[in-house]
Formats: sequence, structure tokens, C-alpha cells
Amino acid sequence: MMKRALLNVDYTFDFVAEDGALTAGKPGQAIEEEIVSLTKEFIDAGDYVVFAIDAHEDGDELHPESALFPSHNIIGTKGRDLYGSLAPVYEEHKEKEHVYYFDKTRYSAFAGTDLEIRLRERGIEEVHIVGVCTDICVLHTAVDAYNKGFKIVIHKGAVASFNQAGHNWALEHFTNTLGAKVV
Ligand code: ZN
Repeated sequence: MMKRALLNVDYTFDFVAEDGALTAGKPGQAIEEEIVSLTKEFIDAGDYVVFAIDAHEDGDELHPESALFPSHNIIGTKGRDLYGSLAPVYEEHKEKEHVYYFDKTRYSAFAGTDLEIRLRERGIEEVHIVGVCTDICVLHTAVDAYNKGFKIVIHKGAVASFNQAGHNWALEHFTNTLGAKVV
């Protein structure tokens, strides 16, 4: 059977909570149960589960996002906390060898991180992606996964965006252009 990993992308306070700095709002909150359920399922099955979480420095003028978005997910703030009931699930299992939390500074979980090396050394061929935002960090992670030759599964009940048109466009793009399974 093909080895798989679950990539949890940016399901944090700033991206999901009502008063988050760059929140997907209600659509983001609506996927909480599905993300938690998939995360538990993958952890219990012994599959590799990663949390790829945006990390920014306050006032980082060199970062391209500074000109595009309000500041968010600042290191050391509550904005970076995993949202809702995903937080205790991570806390409970974080010591396990197959659970890995890391910081990312760009949209893609592969950009400037050791994610690819970790997936390759485990022989993982298929990545399942959940989190926010469908058309930004989930999309860019999926594009990199495609270019690196991973098979991709997107759980449509576990991705969301503040931009509904962008969300819908991305779901089609995953299927039609990245050859992903959208389930
Ligand atoms: Zn960011």
C-alpha cells in the first residue's frame, strides 16, 4: 500500500478565529471537526502527520507578504496557536515520532523547509492536504507537491478560504491541473 502523509496547513487562530488577523472566518471554523477527525485518523493509523505553520517576524519589511496582507502569525503570539480542538489533539500526540510540527515562512509548506527530505526518507508517495486557505497556502503546497512528483489528495471538507470564488477555483485546479483526488 502506498505510504501517505497528512499535511495540516495553517489551521491557526489568526487564520480561523473570528478575531484572527487574516481570518477565513466562518468557512474556516466550519471545517474544524473534519480536520480534527482526519488528523486523529492519520495519527492512529501510524501515518506521518505534519503541521506546517506560518511564522512571521513582526515588522519584517523584507518579507513579500508584508506588502500584501495585514501582519499575521507573528512568532510568540496567540495568532500562531492551533485553532480550537486541533490544539489539544496536537498536544496529546506531539511526542510521537510520526507527528512533526514545523514553521514555514512562505505559502508553500515545501518552501525553505525540510518537508520533502522527511517525506522521502519515509518513502511517502501520497500527500493529503487540509487547512487554510484553499487558494493560497494549500494551493501553493499542492503545486510544489505536484512538481516534486507526489500524488495529491485534497479533502474538500477540510479546506477553506476567505475567498469563496478562489476556493472554488482552486478545487477545480487541484483536479484538472494537478491531477489531485478531491475527496
Ligand atoms: Zn503568512
